[in-house]
Amino acid sequence: MSDALARLRRLGEPFMQELSRAQWMVGAGYASEIDLRGIYARHAAALSDDSLAAAREAWRDAAPGSEEQRSARSLLDWQLEAQASRVTAELEERELAWDASAVITLDDGRRLPYQRAAIEIANATDRAERLRLDRARAALVARELAPIRRERFDREREVVAKLDVAPTYIDAIEQVSALPLRSLAGQCEAFLRDTADMSRELLAHSLKRQLGVEVEDAQRSDGLALSRAAEFDAAFPPSDLEPAIRRQLREMGLDPEAGGHIIFDTAEREGKRSRAFCASVRIPEEVYLVLRPHGGASDWQTLLHEAGHSLHFGNMSAALPFEHRWLGDNSVTEGYAMLFDHRMQDAGWLRRYSGLRGADLSRFLRRAAFGELRFIRRYCAKLLYELDLHGGEVPASQLPSRYAERLSEATGFRYSPDDAYADVDPRFYVGRYLQAWQLQAILATELTEQFNDDWWRNPSAGPWLRDVLFAEGQRETAGELAQRVAGRDLTFAPLIADIERLIES
Ligand SMILES: [Zn+2]
Repeated sequence: MSDALARLRRLGEPFMQELSRAQWMVGAGYASEIDLRGIYARHAAALSDDSLAAAREAWRDAAPGSEEQRSARSLLDWQLEAQASRVTAELEERELAWDASAVITLDDGRRLPYQRAAIEIANATDRAERLRLDRARAALVARELAPIRRERFDREREVVAKLDVAPTYIDAIEQVSALPLRSLAGQCEAFLRDTADMSRELLAHSLKRQLGVEVEDAQRSDGLALSRAAEFDAAFPPSDLEPAIRRQLREMGLDPEAGGHIIFDTAEREGKRSRAFCASVRIPEEVYLVLRPHGGASDWQTLLHEAGHSLHFGNMSAALPFEHRWLGDNSVTEGYAMLFDHRMQDAGWLRRYSGLRGADLSRFLRRAAFGELRFIRRYCAKLLYELDLHGGEVPASQLPSRYAERLSEATGFRYSPDDAYADVDPRFYVGRYLQAWQLQAILATELTEQFNDDWWRNPSAGPWLRDVLFAEGQRETAGELAQRVAGRDLTFAPLIADIERLIES
């Protein structure tokens, strides 16, 4: 390891700790705003031109396939992201402030905090009200949020182009961020084709039965209402949420708190973000799992997801260098999160830890199959659209309509062009989710082969996950991990098989 990389590690960890702590404070409701520019100023040395040049040189000079190159790639990826974030910090602060304070005005004059919109839309049983809420939300987003985000994406591309690591922004993400966008896009196109008929049939059935809406009228907000599935809430009481999941983790031989490293924060608190998150403030010693409960099955799924992240960060080996604990391919940590949240599609798990039984359980599983298919198709379309957005071949004026076409076609719900910039994950994070989906299916199959169908309560399965996977941090990419653990490539094939199996249940 060169002196330059050692220096980057030394400067990097305190910077990431301070950033992560500030993000946690705001998200958990302990602080009202985040002083991003102050943090970047205090850690200017970590993000200096010298640091970037050192990472770039180390990456170019290292022997292909060496550990040195692996470390250098992660550090360069972090430099690219951090340098871009430094430039867009002011826009990001504006977006956070907007998110916390924006107010929707409905056409009848009522006002509603933007933060509440998604929940209110999903809970609205009156369709006219649902559409009214969503129209007002979309109009506000197009007017106020879209310009901020559009500028942020433009600036980010400019910064990466100037840093001269690869010919295009997409090449930089592929080579330095280790996300194989183009081959993933090909897989997405095939998945959308292969599951089109199944998707159409399931959609028509669910819309008619659950919402009384015809396929040709379905809008994105109807999709939110479909996902809500309030009729199963009684089987997922809020009082059981944390105890049930802690019990399951203990039964599989895992300490839910990873020896005191993980702090559960699931209480209601004024100012807490409505979206749950895991904040690793020091890795592996201080990891917060933050959730603001809304009630029902979705809280359970969210807590499982964030528990997967928390267990990953809380069980990483402290001996790993900075870059393998803090950086790397986030498809891996998302894969662990999804491995846990997919227990909400596991009949045995649901029978043991939730109140679902008999016909309700079968109905819940069939619905989960449809939800799964819809979400993967949505993410496939998002990836293809985000390649349009960042690829430079589609004129900016056509992007909103391209967004609406791609998303509407894939999901069967009409999407609004108003969301073309708001519904975008920075730096192709959507691709990490898609790989995570593929990875969790491979891991679940492997766990079943080693520890049986009920691996989630086999006391040997947890230690295996902890020692063979979590302890390694994010040294490997998701693709490498799938090869090491199961000798397989990441594909959508096992997901299609899982969905078909669920539909039969
Ligand atoms: Zn996640």
